Amino acid sequence: MRKRDLEILLERVPAHPKPRADLEQYRTPPVIAADLLWQAYALGDVGERTLVDLGCGTGMLALGALLLGAPRATGVDVDADALSVALESARQLGVADRFEIEHSDVDGLTWPADTAIMNPPFGAQKRHADRPFLDAAFRSSPVIWSIHLAETQMWVENYASRAGVVVTHAIPYRFPLKAQFAFHEKPVKDVDVVALRFTHGDDAHGGD
Ligand code: SAH
Repeated sequence: MRKRDLEILLERVPAHPKPRADLEQYRTPPVIAADLLWQAYALGDVGERTLVDLGCGTGMLALGALLLGAPRATGVDVDADALSVALESARQLGVADRFEIEHSDVDGLTWPADTAIMNPPFGAQKRHADRPFLDAAFRSSPVIWSIHLAETQMWVENYASRAGVVVTHAIPYRFPLKAQFAFHEKPVKDVDVVALRFTHGDDAHGGD
């Protein structure tokens, strides 16, 4: 598969039908999801790895990982409607046999997996809404990929280092947020985000 093929397949994953502002339900743009997953794959974090997608929404990241050949992925979300869309997308993409959902808040959750991947709420509505996501990811997996507002990168890195977790890669993206909530004035607003890869040390996946 080429990266462009992955992008095209991921275009089929719909946005949330009725997004809630308080849950910050934005779909990761397929072109960004495909690039991030491509890089994660190249670092050995996807092929032959089980994944957990925290706040999976309609499944963009987990389903992309499965399309790249991950043996198993679990999508966790607090929103049942998002999970139904994710399941339906998994069926349409032919990866439903390797995808499972968990209807749960990430707060306090531990879901062991080789790699945690997530595009958590950026905390625009609720300050540090990404904190329980980082906690859950750090508890669950030796390798973590997470998307954050670029302006919060230092805060996130400091937060991680207090948990003994270090950033190994930082990839910047521009994230076009489409106006989907009444308080948005412009139709599309670009925000600078950064995808961070974290590990608990040098020997993330046992060195293989
Ligand atoms: N990962 C998806 C969706 C990102 S939007 C994508 O990349 O396209 C953030 C998601 O986090 C939403 O689906 C929202 O329902 C979910 N969410 C927000 N707070 C949550 C919480 N405390 N526990 C679990 N899921 C949560």
